[in-house]
Amino acid sequence: MKIAIVGGGVAGLTAAHRLRAKGYHDITVYERGASVGGKVCSYVHDGRAYELGALWSSPRYRIIGELAEQVGATRRADRLPAVLDHATTSTYARYLRNHYRLRDVGTAFVKLARTFLRYPVIRKPTLAGIPAAVCDDFDRFAGREGFQILADVSASFFTGCGYLQNDRVPAIYLMKMMHLFIDVLIVDVLGLKNTRIDIFDNGWQELWKAIAKDFDVRCSSTITQISRHTENGLTTTAITADDAAEVYDRLILASPLDTSHLFLDLRPDEHELFAKIQTHRYKVTLIEATSLPHASVVDHVPRTMAGHVNLIARQHRDADVFTIYQQIEDVVSEDDATALLFEDIAAMGVRDATVIAAKTWNYFPHVSTDDIRAGFYESMSALQGRYGTYYVGSVMNMETVEHTAQFSSELVDRYF
Ligand SMILES: Cc1cc2nc3c(=O)[nH]c(=O)nc-3n(C[C@H](O)[C@H](O)[C@H](O)COP(=O)(O)OP(=O)(O)OC[C@H]3O[C@@H](n4cnc5c(N)ncnc54)[C@H](O)[C@@H]3O)c2cc1C
Repeated sequence: MKIAIVGGGVAGLTAAHRLRAKGYHDITVYERGASVGGKVCSYVHDGRAYELGALWSSPRYRIIGELAEQVGATRRADRLPAVLDHATTSTYARYLRNHYRLRDVGTAFVKLARTFLRYPVIRKPTLAGIPAAVCDDFDRFAGREGFQILADVSASFFTGCGYLQNDRVPAIYLMKMMHLFIDVLIVDVLGLKNTRIDIFDNGWQELWKAIAKDFDVRCSSTITQISRHTENGLTTTAITADDAAEVYDRLILASPLDTSHLFLDLRPDEHELFAKIQTHRYKVTLIEATSLPHASVVDHVPRTMAGHVNLIARQHRDADVFTIYQQIEDVVSEDDATALLFEDIAAMGVRDATVIAAKTWNYFPHVSTDDIRAGFYESMSALQGRYGTYYVGSVMNMETVEHTAQFSSELVDRYF
């Protein structure tokens, strides 16, 4: 069977790797960029890797752990994220102590644990079949379930990681991330050595480059047309890229689904579903500067602060190089975002910053509470395979490397 995968990011390469493990060999990956990785994007400066895309990994990342072991990609513990509390850098443990009563925090932990037990679907690598209650916005859901304190404390972490604000995001997406934040909190509160949050020694992109080596990956390809043709119940797919056409038995779409109309002969049901996907612009800037707080998350960023700095990470403790994250959404221009960055760090006492590199992403593909309740994910599941086409990518589960890899892996196991 001849299989084409469009998109050489985490979703596409995990699918390719899983297909190979199941005995499929005729696999071609089309990648628009000059290199594989997509939103996993490492940048080398002064001989060291810095992340312009995905930053943190976790020992909880089972698929990533297995892949890393196979190709020999090593990780090291990162400094735990901190929070800026009224302009002072604070650990999350101190933040909890300063703002809440211990007994209330304990109760919130118990209620959160109960919520995970009540909704086991949260841990599944899919979003189909989610109960309506878990589609409310995260704040409302946490309030109802009784762990509002933990939602409040996690707000700076989630916003820092680019997932908008808790009252704008269907709870199910953030619940899939919650255990990663709780890991940070527990390590912090108990004063343990960090074993929960790590980064790749030589940059996360190396992992995906190593995996891609085994495949026919066509980087820098420009797909102009994908046409699907069904005869006697069998669909074939013709892909025209760089003026040459090739025919495949199966197509896996691992590029952003909401941009598929640029080359795919979209069917009305695909068009209707893909149009519901929302993303926002998330800017990452690598700067050289002195005296910035280390790996800190600016406290609860309200919506009116679109474009302001919401996370500062320092990937090498002995280098004055910082990665700055800003949700610029659709309201702040690139230039204004740079101006805001300089304003924000000047307020922290930094006057000597220089920009090394920057990248803006269409981040966190997701759908609204109403669209999840109206059956978006059930309809996507029903679509799988209908036109000889399968759909993967972070929108199908959650915008993290592991969740994206989980969905691809599961899809291949189920349909191939
Ligand atoms: C700034 C940032 C920080 C992040 N931090 C973390 C983190 O700390 N931890 C974590 O786990 N995750 C993190 N993530 C999320 C994680 O990187 C993504 O969830 C994951 O990489 C998504 O993979 P994907 O394959 O779905 O999408 P993508 O990475 O977007 O892959 C899609 C691929 O398709 C290609 N493509 C697009 N159009 C075409 C076309 N026409 N033809 C061919 N190819 C095409 C693209 O070039 C791309 O390579 C972060 C992401 C960003 C941007």
